[in-house]
Amino acid sequence: MGEFDLIERYFKRPERHTARVALGIGDDCALLQPAPGTQLAISCDMLVEGRHFVATMDPFKLGHKSLAVNLSDLAACGARPLAFTLALALPRADEAWLAPFAQGLLALADAHGCELIGGDTTQGPLNICITVFGEVPVVNGRSQALLRSGAQAGDDLYVSGNVGDARLALEVLRGSVSVPEAVFNAARMRLETPTPRVALGLALRGIANAAIDVSDGLLGDLGHILKQSGVGATVDVDIATTLVAAYAYSTGATGQFDINFSPDHWRRWALSGGDDYELLFTAPTSARQAVAAAAQSSQTTVTRIGQIDAEHGLRLVDAQGQPVSNRYASFDHFA
Ligand code: ADP
Ligand code: MG
Repeated sequence: MGEFDLIERYFKRPERHTARVALGIGDDCALLQPAPGTQLAISCDMLVEGRHFVATMDPFKLGHKSLAVNLSDLAACGARPLAFTLALALPRADEAWLAPFAQGLLALADAHGCELIGGDTTQGPLNICITVFGEVPVVNGRSQALLRSGAQAGDDLYVSGNVGDARLALEVLRGSVSVPEAVFNAARMRLETPTPRVALGLALRGIANAAIDVSDGLLGDLGHILKQSGVGATVDVDIATTLVAAYAYSTGATGQFDINFSPDHWRRWALSGGDDYELLFTAPTSARQAVAAAAQSSQTTVTRIGQIDAEHGLRLVDAQGQPVSNRYASFDHFA
């Protein structure tokens, strides 16, 4: 199977003529037609074998995750997905890998009305690079995009869904901890097939002051909001810890079980685990009802985990309000 057969067979689909995609795969460029009064939101993420996923990862799930991490960036901006490109380096044209990879990728794309409009295909070590394009309205000359730089002192700080599960699954896969199978299975789904919070991001336009998606760890990604907004924050680490779904499972649904690691691990995973793809955002206290309504309309849980302070720096407190020292550094590829 040659390069062009491969593209034709797995990635090119019948023309759909969506309102925004004027020309898809097959020419030198694709053509996008953003709606009048909108901006294009663009983001690119690369997944490298051995770094972001293991060689044995199920190709269907890898297809899903490759697009999910990109859609998560659009969600964090409050952008509506339009289209994406796929640059793929493959060791060989292996049908048993390509077919499920394309299925996983395109199923998530279809769920979000996000069309594959082009890409590049080359032989080489497995590497998946996706660029997504989304749309954000401009109202009265103001972009409705949610930015990292908009947090205000006094804002509530929220995170969607659960954090820490992906890291828990990774530690189990690495053999550094063991947990009951049901807990691992729940966590593994979060690692391998994360749900991008696109509907929540859209619902938060005009409500949230700032947002980011949690990819490198909650506290580290919060740090980007604080720096770019010129503010500080206080975070309740005990609330955040309950957001490891497996933790809730272990303490609630099934009672305590024996685990060969300390409770501090739960905090570590929630606060610095990474690969969560949840939205971390701030909103004025006057918007609490609007935030609850956005959570409900997008069918996403949202938890208030702290507040934004005028005083710079990050303060961690426990359920009793006592200070907790910050030993929860985020992931950094070059640190
Ligand atoms: P060019 O050499 O002009 O860059 P290519 O021969 O690489 O074009 O690609 C032919 C067409 O197939 C282009 O429209 C390109 O966007 C598309 N394409 C190539 N690889 C992929 C891929 N992995 N997924 C989707 N479209 C692709
Ligand atoms: Mg090319």
